[in-house]
This record gives sequence, structure tokens and C-alpha cells, in this order.
Amino acid sequence: MKSRLTNKATLVNQLDIHTALLNWYDGNARALSWRVAPIDSKMGVKPDPYRVWLSEIMLQQTGVKVVEPYFQKFVRKWPKIHDLHKATETAVLAAWSGLGYYRRARNLKACAEILCTKYQGNFPQEESLLLKLPGIGKYTSAAILTIAFGIPAIVVDGNIERIVARLFNLQDTLEKLKPQIYKNVSNFSPTIRPGDFAQAMMDLGATVCKPKNPLCKKCPIQNFCKAFYKGNSNIIPKKSKKKIRILKKGYVYIGITKTKKIAMVVRPNNGLLGGMTCPPSSDWKTNNFPTNIPPISGSWIMLDQTVKHTFTHFDLELKILFSHISDIPENYISKTLNQSLITSTPTVMRKAILAAVNFEKSNVVW
Ligand code: SF4
Repeated sequence: MKSRLTNKATLVNQLDIHTALLNWYDGNARALSWRVAPIDSKMGVKPDPYRVWLSEIMLQQTGVKVVEPYFQKFVRKWPKIHDLHKATETAVLAAWSGLGYYRRARNLKACAEILCTKYQGNFPQEESLLLKLPGIGKYTSAAILTIAFGIPAIVVDGNIERIVARLFNLQDTLEKLKPQIYKNVSNFSPTIRPGDFAQAMMDLGATVCKPKNPLCKKCPIQNFCKAFYKGNSNIIPKKSKKKIRILKKGYVYIGITKTKKIAMVVRPNNGLLGGMTCPPSSDWKTNNFPTNIPPISGSWIMLDQTVKHTFTHFDLELKILFSHISDIPENYISKTLNQSLITSTPTVMRKAILAAVNFEKSNVVW
């Protein structure tokens, strides 16, 4: 197979790549709840910037499959940005629960507040203004401009980085290649159908030019791909050295009253699980468990089971302590222990509550 790419990609083959990729996208676009399908886009249907923004915030750090049900829940509850603006932060955090990186949910709420009070519920169509909004960085602003408004901008997510590294046969880690990839994408992004082009690249990365074993035989831009031509598709990008993971340890205290109330606290906004209502826990100490000092008086029993959870920068292991308590102390939040509470609690704490509930059912009598 002869590559049609020369060292300096010409305008002609750039146009060829655009055409090949957009033709492929027209027949192979993923059907996503927040997306306007290419056929509708051609008929003049415009994307809803609210849905584009919401999906892009959810997709930061999270995959499409996990995001889909959350996205649908959000647009059912809050179909328009004004609805989200009127919601309480607690309600937004509860609906977000399980999606992780809770700062995104707080930023979502703060962003809706600014958009509704300052911009009448509309998104500004300038990068400099978008970048001032909470939770919107360079990538998200480019995605909003391009996908929601059809304004050409440089959209570079993880999928696109990988495709471009392969397309140009760039042999290093993505971390080191970032500036070069960004430059290549800026030379390479089209002015016609820029939103569809960005989404086509995302889809190509997710379904064809996958991290492992790219499906080059099915690839619409194979003829332009230097890595394919050189037989390097599987070794690009170069893997980064694995960083040693930090392990933090701590305790979580599940105190339940006879009337099935559970003692909860709101975690500080600036830490992990910030702003989320959770059972109280100790500090999380690197490598060793801290001193176990239950925050509420009770007959605390340590369960055999521990909860393990992976955050971006460290792993967490929590030992679970359970006690029946006479009352919820004044400085704690009293919540009814039911399904709705469990589903609105972050995954790591949800696991601890469920372990304590199961323990109570099988072991303890009041
Ligand atoms: Fe990726 Fe293979 Fe297509 Fe190149 S030919 S862009 S490596 S799928």
C-alpha cells in the first residue's frame, strides 16, 4: 500500500482525508443521545449547546457507555439549562453520584448559574469567554465551539491524539508528543463540517483506531496513515512508564439508629468527593491506617470486609466500622437509610454502607 502522505501534508491530501473521514462518518457515526446524527445535521438540525456541554463535561474522565444513562437522567430531570440552574447543588450531586470526579458536578451547577444570570442561558461563542466558565478548559471549549456552533477549533482528546500520532508516525509517548500533535491537528482541521469532523475523529478512535489492535483494514484513512505504511500501527503511541500507585488507608464509620437513620456529613468542597454527603471517615493516610477514633459514641465493630477504590492519583482502602447509635448527633446530617440514599452516595461510600447493612442483617440484633 503506497502512502499518499508526504512529509509536508499537502492541502490536496488534507482534503482527501477530510472527505474520506466524513464519508465514513456519514455511514458509521455512533448514535449518542447528545449528538445530532449526520443525516439530520445535513437537513439543518442544529445541536443543542446545553446537551453538547453536558455530555462533554460528563465525558471528561469517563467513557461513553457509563455516561449515557447519566446523561439521559440529567436531561430528563433538567431538560434545559434554566432547569439545571434552578436545581439545588445537593440534587445535582446526588444525580451525579457514581460518575466520580464530583468537582465536575459542582462546576456544572456553577456554570449553569453564570450562563443563566449573565448570558440569558446561552453559551458564549468565543473561546476566551468559554474558558472563564467553571469546568471548561481548552478541550471542552473547543468541543463546544466546534460541535455545538460549527466554529472551527482545535479539538484534541485522547482518541484524536492517538490517531494523529499514528497518522504522522510519531514515535514517542503521547505526553511528550502533545505540542506536536496539537500543531498537526491545527494544520489539519477543516473549516467545512468541523463539528462532524471532530466527532468523526472521536468515533474513529473509539471504534477503529483503538488503543490496542487498531482495525486498520476497516480504516477509512488507511491510505493516508504513515504508521500503517511503516507497519507501526501497533507500537504507536509509545507506552509511558507505569507510575507507582500510592495506597491510602482509612476508616469509614457507618452509624445507624433503630429508626433506620444514618449519620452522614458533607465532605469539604476542596477535597475528594467534595460537597458529597457521605458517612464520616477518618483521614486517609499513605500506606498505614491512621489511629481509629470513632467520631460518634457507639459500640463500633470492625467488619472483616474492606472497601477498595481507585482514584486518579491513588488507591484507597477503607476499613468499615459499624455501630448502632442511639441518636444522630447534632453536628451530623440524619438521612433515612433507603435505596434512594444509597444510589445518591458516591460509589466508594455506597459499598461501605451496603457492607454494613448486610452485616447488620446477618449478625446483629438490637
Ligand atoms: Fe489507525 Fe490503522 Fe487507521 Fe492508521 S490505518 S489511522 S493506525 S486504524
